[in-house]
Amino acid sequence: MAISKTKKKFYITTSIPYVNAHPHVGFALELIQADALARFHRLLSADTFFLTGTDEHGSKVPKAAQAAGKEILDFVNEISARFKKLCAVLGISNSHFIRTTDQGHKKSAQKFWKKTLDSGDIYKSKYEGLYCVGCENYYNESDLEGGLCPIHKTKPETLSEENYFFRFSKYQAQLLDHFQKNPGFVVPKTRYNEIFEFIKHGLSDISISRSTKTLKWGVPVPGDREQVIYIWFDALINYLSGIGYAEEDATFKKYWPADVHLIGKDILRFHAGLWPAMLLSAGLPLPKQIFVHGFISVDGQKISKSMGNIIDPFALAEKYGADVLRYFLLREIPSDGDGDFSVQKLEARYTADLVNNLGNLVSRLTNLIEKELNGVVPFDVEAPKKAENLEKYIRDFRLHEALAEIWENLSWANQYIDEVKLWELPQKNPKLFKEAISSLVALLRQVISELSPFLPHTAQRLEEIFSAEKIVKSPPLFPRLVDS
Ligand SMILES: [Zn+2]
Repeated sequence: MAISKTKKKFYITTSIPYVNAHPHVGFALELIQADALARFHRLLSADTFFLTGTDEHGSKVPKAAQAAGKEILDFVNEISARFKKLCAVLGISNSHFIRTTDQGHKKSAQKFWKKTLDSGDIYKSKYEGLYCVGCENYYNESDLEGGLCPIHKTKPETLSEENYFFRFSKYQAQLLDHFQKNPGFVVPKTRYNEIFEFIKHGLSDISISRSTKTLKWGVPVPGDREQVIYIWFDALINYLSGIGYAEEDATFKKYWPADVHLIGKDILRFHAGLWPAMLLSAGLPLPKQIFVHGFISVDGQKISKSMGNIIDPFALAEKYGADVLRYFLLREIPSDGDGDFSVQKLEARYTADLVNNLGNLVSRLTNLIEKELNGVVPFDVEAPKKAENLEKYIRDFRLHEALAEIWENLSWANQYIDEVKLWELPQKNPKLFKEAISSLVALLRQVISELSPFLPHTAQRLEEIFSAEKIVKSPPLFPRLVDS
């Protein structure tokens, strides 16, 4: 039987952050995780599309713009550009950057709306909510502080308006069935269980529009000038519009359904509940998998404006280098759980893992190759070790364990050098010296490829060092930290 090679595609998305504030380290983590996954799949020769972007509608945006003394569009342009810059600074390899204020996205959202309407899943009803007049904004009970508006410290009024509703409840049985047939639909298992229980409990139809009397900034509801599409209904559609749903062009046909939506645990219900129901209604296939990462605390404290502990990823990347920040976040924070950030931990990992382990190995090897072998690696041999479980860890969304395995091999190499006293071998046992160097370089070449999805810049530097015709002693890959 002939084996037919199927050309695989891989479509991965991040959530799209809301533009009422500047990027913080939690979103940097999500970008970096998604980037590592995208790069890994490209390494496997999958035709990969990686989407990120910004969520720019909703009632908080006009308020934030006003507070900043700016026109709404100028305001969103500025913040969106900041997120785009973060991608560049962190070495993110996204294929496209979607903005929900893009014309193509608006067209997609309206097209999607019509599909849902045609399925009989949209109806008009009365929406009742807690409304702060000062904010001109509806609040959820959970957004209030002691029953009061968090900004104005006043009690919101109960207001009602006519809205459009989506028949979320209609899809309960279909969703439960999908979850039961696809136990890997949501990863990790704790999040799968959480959303499964939520759906099992029963779903209520949800309001998916707002009256322009209370909110004008949004995508107009097709055929009704007095309503705009509710922020979440609008935002989720970015995963379709980002690959050309409006025209259903070749890109859309090739990449949908998404292979992975990467999200934070706070937006699980929207992505694993509402979104699949919306897709079923619109007659589109469901994403294959939803990966849910945890939250980062700082020095053991929850990140919040009021704590004053918001960590700026730009400052970290500038001070330590993008790959160092990438390494720390991917290695220290368990991909599938919560983790803690502190400068002390970052610097400890930097010194132990990057300076003393990888960096030291490279400088020891290149030094000996230049000094004892005139820059030439004697033999082309197989690597004595490789990260056997790398692919499994990455597919299971345990990126921290993938890196741990690569580092075990680096530690092994450094230990071996110490045990055989590699620097004494040129005199004592030249044959063994040549064999050992060849093996260690083979291991390092293996590591370059294993490392490339995680630390692309470092992998590229290593590639340049070890693919040179004559290898010369490399300056430190990672300089030692000095007290400042
Ligand atoms: Zn208020």
